[in-house]
Amino acid sequence: MLKLTSLIYSEKYKRHNNATHPENQDRLNAIINSLKNKGIWNEIDIVSPQKATENDLLRVHSREHVEYIKKFCEGGGGYIDYDTYATPESYEIAKLAAGGAIEAAEIVLNEKTSAYSIARPPGHHATGTKSMGFCIFNNLAISLEYLRKTFKIKKFLIFDFDVHFGNGTSEIFYSDPDVLYISIHQNPKTLYPGDGFIEEIGAGKGEGFNINIPMAPGSTTDDYIYILENILSPVTSKFNADFYFLDVGFDGHVDDPLSNLKLTDDFYEYIINKMGNIAGPMALILEGGYNLNVLSRCNVKMISGLNNMKEDDYIKEELNVSDECRNILKQIKDVFSSFYEF
Ligand SMILES: [Zn+2]
Repeated sequence: MLKLTSLIYSEKYKRHNNATHPENQDRLNAIINSLKNKGIWNEIDIVSPQKATENDLLRVHSREHVEYIKKFCEGGGGYIDYDTYATPESYEIAKLAAGGAIEAAEIVLNEKTSAYSIARPPGHHATGTKSMGFCIFNNLAISLEYLRKTFKIKKFLIFDFDVHFGNGTSEIFYSDPDVLYISIHQNPKTLYPGDGFIEEIGAGKGEGFNINIPMAPGSTTDDYIYILENILSPVTSKFNADFYFLDVGFDGHVDDPLSNLKLTDDFYEYIINKMGNIAGPMALILEGGYNLNVLSRCNVKMISGLNNMKEDDYIKEELNVSDECRNILKQIKDVFSSFYEF
């Protein structure tokens, strides 16, 4: 039986487009064509989302921000900041992207299977008050707050493996002890958005519920497996979430043009197996990934991996781990020693 039963997608996502920008409609074409070629597209339900309502947006974003984006798009769009564009239709499409994340989460709850929202624009850089980093609204955060309001779910875990730190998602839940945000990303000293360090552990009651794993440029699949094997299980079992989000990015791949890591296709099979074993059904939310061939291959790899889960966790016998990676793990264990038992 398929463990991922639904893909949430709308053709309208392609209308938010700028052909000269790396975050363009070709990304979705690449994913969809590869799923069709492999026969996966016909095996799963393709679900068309509803737009998130203004109320849904306002649980996460300020009214000023929502109004600003609406007027900006009505005025013809353009660049919101130096790397984030909007078209005249982007306000409506961004609501549809947030609605896709809501739909995925509802399917997970109702059908007890995983669901994957392949929406654009992405969301994890969008803060409560600002669009940035190709993101207009924070799709995942809007979905989470919808679940919290509608279904009274208490504890949420978000694992974000996009190569960039999801500063927006982190900031929105920074003081919230019921949302554990874990992000593994390229060291922000060397990559956008410039924050996401180990010492950023959450604030107030949220202390200990924001875990950043900043990986050195050049980090490999083995480095990632080593550090995640040491962190994910102890932390997730202690937190014991009621609902799991997997924030998915393919831009840490060695062939991605925007980053400097050396992840291989195998990483995406590893991580889906690892998180599937930890979480069971989960809502997958698409963020980045800018090499079209990587998007094609690794989405197939990830979805196939989820539907052919191995009984035991994927553990590689001999990992070739860098000293830098071992040092990062040590620092994380030190900083979080009073919160988790590693
Ligand atoms: Zn990214």
